[in-house]
Amino acid sequence: MNAATPCVPANAATQTGFPPSRETIRGSVEAGGSLADFIWFRTGGPAEWLVRPADVEDLAGLLKTLDPSTPVLPVGVGSNLIVRDGGVPGVVVRLPKAMAKVSVEDGRVRAGAGAMGITVASAARDAGIAGLEFLRGIPGTVGGAVRMNAGAYGRDVSDILIEATVVTRDGAVETWPAARFGYVYRHSDLPAGAVVVEAVFSGTPGEPAVIGAEMDRIAAEREASQPLRSRTGGSTFKNPEGHKAWALIDAAGCRGLTRGDAQVSEKHCNFLLNLGSASSAEIEALGEEVRTKVKAHSGVTLEWEIQRVGVAK
Ligand SMILES: Cc1cc2nc3c(=O)[nH]c(=O)nc-3n(C[C@H](O)[C@H](O)[C@H](O)COP(=O)(O)OP(=O)(O)OC[C@H]3O[C@@H](n4cnc5c(N)ncnc54)[C@H](O)[C@@H]3O)c2cc1C
Repeated sequence: MNAATPCVPANAATQTGFPPSRETIRGSVEAGGSLADFIWFRTGGPAEWLVRPADVEDLAGLLKTLDPSTPVLPVGVGSNLIVRDGGVPGVVVRLPKAMAKVSVEDGRVRAGAGAMGITVASAARDAGIAGLEFLRGIPGTVGGAVRMNAGAYGRDVSDILIEATVVTRDGAVETWPAARFGYVYRHSDLPAGAVVVEAVFSGTPGEPAVIGAEMDRIAAEREASQPLRSRTGGSTFKNPEGHKAWALIDAAGCRGLTRGDAQVSEKHCNFLLNLGSASSAEIEALGEEVRTKVKAHSGVTLEWEIQRVGVAK
């Protein structure tokens, strides 16, 4: 299936009330837009409709007019996603550069949800705001981090988020205080179809040189321990209470396990890799095999951290 081919029957445009006319959206709308072109695993089918809104108002207008039965999936850079091989029905929203601006006001960092974590951490460092260094090591967008409660080194988004602006599935623009996200480990209560468009983070006063040194330490540690230049989706499974997922996977004999071109990383065995031409089905099946082996070996049920979206082929 190529990028110009929708992954649903030809009459789907009528079923979903799509595509909108140029009066409805100022951004871009692509039928059958490729997701494999940019997500980290480089696998999976296309979006039925890939939409890049021009700005918040454009996105809100689109969601307001869209048939309520049409599924909406926001994506960042796909650093925590398996997109299944049959593609994603409905509308996939990808935020444009115009929604990735980062600024500092009154000791707080305000970031468009399309901004990368490293950009936020760097802006905080330059402004002498400590506590956001961990975002240096998370290769995703602010939207993905707010949704996933991303974290590392004992801190996560719930520790630094003040509030975030969300466009709800019915097109309302709302500012939510952090408490409304119902954060627990790698989870928020953000409803399906809601799109985070901006976030405000706080930290504590710090020396830029010290903050920068901590960011460098994080970068070096990541380089040494994670397959950063591979096609991967980050940590595959959540760490179960009292355990490290990688240690359970290692103990169950899964380090280096393969299925087609999918492999459990030798470097960090809670990472799955696409060695070249793996399908999403192979990657997901390998993950399920790991879960089965870990359950048999240690009795622990691993829970997926990677978000699996779309339909099988
Ligand atoms: C090498 C590597 C290292 C990693 N290390 C860490 C780590 O230390 N800690 C950690 O927590 N994660 C880590 N990850 C996973 C990943 O980077 C994070 O989960 C990140 O927050 C995902 O951001 P993203 O923009 O890529 O989101 P995506 O992967 O595109 O999407 C992830 C989820 O967020 C949702 N989402 C994305 N954007 C929005 C938005 N604007 N509004 C609403 N929902 C949205 C998607 O619908 C999906 O459910 C790592 C990944 C890699 C590849």
